[in-house]
Amino acid sequence: SPSRSSVIIVGAGVSGLSAAKVLIENGVEDVVILEASDRIGGRILKQDFGGVSVELGANWITGVGGKESNPIWELAQKWNLRTFFSDYSNAHFNIYDQSGKIFPSGVAADAFKKAVESATQKLKKLEADSCYGIDTKAAKPSSTPKTPLELAIDFMLHDFEMPGGDPISTFLDFGEREFLVADERGYDHLLYKMVEEFLFTSEGKLLDNRLKFNKVVRELQHSSNSVTVMTEDGCVFEANYVILSVSIGVLQSDLIAFNPPLPRWKTEAIQKCDVVVYTKIFLKFPSKFWPCGPGKEFFVYAHERRGYYTFWQHLENQYPGSNILVVTLTNEESKRVEAQLDEETLKEAMGALKDMFGHNIPEATDIFVPRWWNNRFQRGTYSNFPHDQVVRDIKARLGCIFFSGEHTSERYSGYVHGGYLAGIETGKALLEEIEKEKERSIESENQT
Ligand code: FAD
Repeated sequence: SPSRSSVIIVGAGVSGLSAAKVLIENGVEDVVILEASDRIGGRILKQDFGGVSVELGANWITGVGGKESNPIWELAQKWNLRTFFSDYSNAHFNIYDQSGKIFPSGVAADAFKKAVESATQKLKKLEADSCYGIDTKAAKPSSTPKTPLELAIDFMLHDFEMPGGDPISTFLDFGEREFLVADERGYDHLLYKMVEEFLFTSEGKLLDNRLKFNKVVRELQHSSNSVTVMTEDGCVFEANYVILSVSIGVLQSDLIAFNPPLPRWKTEAIQKCDVVVYTKIFLKFPSKFWPCGPGKEFFVYAHERRGYYTFWQHLENQYPGSNILVVTLTNEESKRVEAQLDEETLKEAMGALKDMFGHNIPEATDIFVPRWWNNRFQRGTYSNFPHDQVVRDIKARLGCIFFSGEHTSERYSGYVHGGYLAGIETGKALLEEIEKEKERSIESENQT
């Protein structure tokens, strides 16, 4: 017979877990968390690579030093996470052309200034034109970048989301500083510390039987006051409410069938949400051949194809002697490399490096290419600043189904703190609903 609980939470990423925390700490203890994979964290995921721990998913605590305090930064302070300030201010002075020459600082600074001004102008125009708030996604520069230098800077500002590019509420509220997490325990250490406070753990192991791994939700039957959830391995779970915290990419796919189907306004909003694919490729070398020291952490490859192995970072500040480089690809380039063999990707990346540093550089001895787009439990990396109304429709509760996840955060979608705050908000909304339901049943008892 199906197991019954008050609430089922689908997904054990930061949002599902922060929702669970709110519920359990406020007396709703019969919660079941169904997670498709065999671990918590979702898009927060570390991996051993080249002798150190690297982050395949979220890596930065974005938004520090502003008028409000970023809750993820607070958790990082509380648990002593090892973090490093990312100083992007010099990145545009390290832009290489295909013959290995660095663009003169004056030329690069002018191009950078022009791109920032163009984004700001476009934004002002949007603000003036729109009575519905700003669609930041449309705030792309008004003059189209054409040269390799312009394309590289455009990529830095808009795909790498460097401060100064888009008017991101995270920067406005929490500040423009970003800190890279480089901790052998992983970014997910914060989550393990968080769940220790409300789930049963022993010697660092998660043993609470309310948290169930390898449960891939495939069908959700719902009525106004109950929900039945079916998993791929044939299990059935029933509850009064469900919190769905799977990614927007998963909602866009057909992994979960809804019975009855979701209404049209809901599916339309879900499909309207643009999803970014953001790929960090890790390369390990026998020795270092790139410049290090102040102002050299980030360097850029200007190619005629936008986003072609553009943005590079070394990890010498975080892990001296690790000899690891990270290059960031996005969207179409991400999908392209996900579909090809890693050997091909290695060749392409080496080609870009040889253009910059010459043909005598050593070959990489290892490569890792995350595949977030082809992962059926993700289908992308994060929502791309959806319009406010789209977020509201995606988030809107539907009977006993509550929607959560980074893509339901009105101000901070796309970020760890967005997922965290969205989960808290969903947990609180559900608590309120449970309270109201209690009052309603007391009233009806009194009447009879
Ligand atoms: P998720 O973490 O995706 O959690 C959802 C969970 O649901 C997953 O564990 C998944 O396995 C599970 N699931 C999916 N389908 C099913 C199913 N059918 N049944 C059961 N379970 C299911 N944010 C930052 O703040 N800074 C960064 O630097 C940053 N960089 C990023 C880089 C990359 C490559 C990626 C991928 C993300 C990055 N982010 C960053 C975004 C951040 O990681 C996310 O916004 C946040 O972790 C999302 O949390 P979530 O709980 O909403 O979703």
